[in-house]
Amino acid sequence: MEFMLHIGTRTYRFDPGAPLEIAIALRFDGGGLQLFGVPPAAAQAVQAIAAGDGCNCDTYIINPHCHATHTESAGHIEAAPRPIFGALRETLIPATLITITPESEGDDTVISRDALEQQMEKADPDFSAALIIRTLPNDPAKQTRNYDQFLPPYFSTAAMDYIHALGVRHLLTDLPSVDRLQDEGKLSAHHIFWQVPQGTHDTAAAPDRTITELIYVPDEIIDGPYLLNLQIAAFAADAAPSRPVLFEVTPT
Ligand SMILES: [Zn+2]
Repeated sequence: MEFMLHIGTRTYRFDPGAPLEIAIALRFDGGGLQLFGVPPAAAQAVQAIAAGDGCNCDTYIINPHCHATHTESAGHIEAAPRPIFGALRETLIPATLITITPESEGDDTVISRDALEQQMEKADPDFSAALIIRTLPNDPAKQTRNYDQFLPPYFSTAAMDYIHALGVRHLLTDLPSVDRLQDEGKLSAHHIFWQVPQGTHDTAAAPDRTITELIYVPDEIIDGPYLLNLQIAAFAADAAPSRPVLFEVTPT
């Protein structure tokens, strides 16, 4: 089956049966991602319903921000609750995948504005509603890493200013956070993306945007334009596990 769609002034076709997976699965065997000292995701059998009694019915203990691919709303930094459930209405989002090599800045490595500008020069502006950023090296260990033993790169504030200027509404990254993991709670890049004044938990001026962290984009998926379907668990919370998939688009 093929679908046709119009984006900008052009027509494209895509195959809804051929999604490209860029999510990291949420594992319950203790071998998954860890962050901020939070113990691994876990499953507990419900005592009243042992497996032998007819079905599996485990209780799961997860932290959406720490254990796998997740999508967050501005509620992540606002004082008032803003459930991710309901914050995203779009289902097929024109998206651009780019690959960036973070640069050293003192002891840190950062995604710079220059590196982003270089990659976006060749991008099609019709596909800028979502921006998916793969960082190099693209180590498969990104799918199981304990980030308490590894300081990952993060976005410079200039880079996030640029993403804001591009009008990107949905930002996806393979990093555990767009901000430095230990930044004294400033979360400066998050504040820029959602347009929440720095140092406050005020209401976002750009509440229709989402950030998805801890994706993994396999090397076989090449940079370029795609359609993004951002599947989010219907959590009444600021963040929920998600399963972003990409579809190749072919101009007709
Ligand atoms: Zn998060």
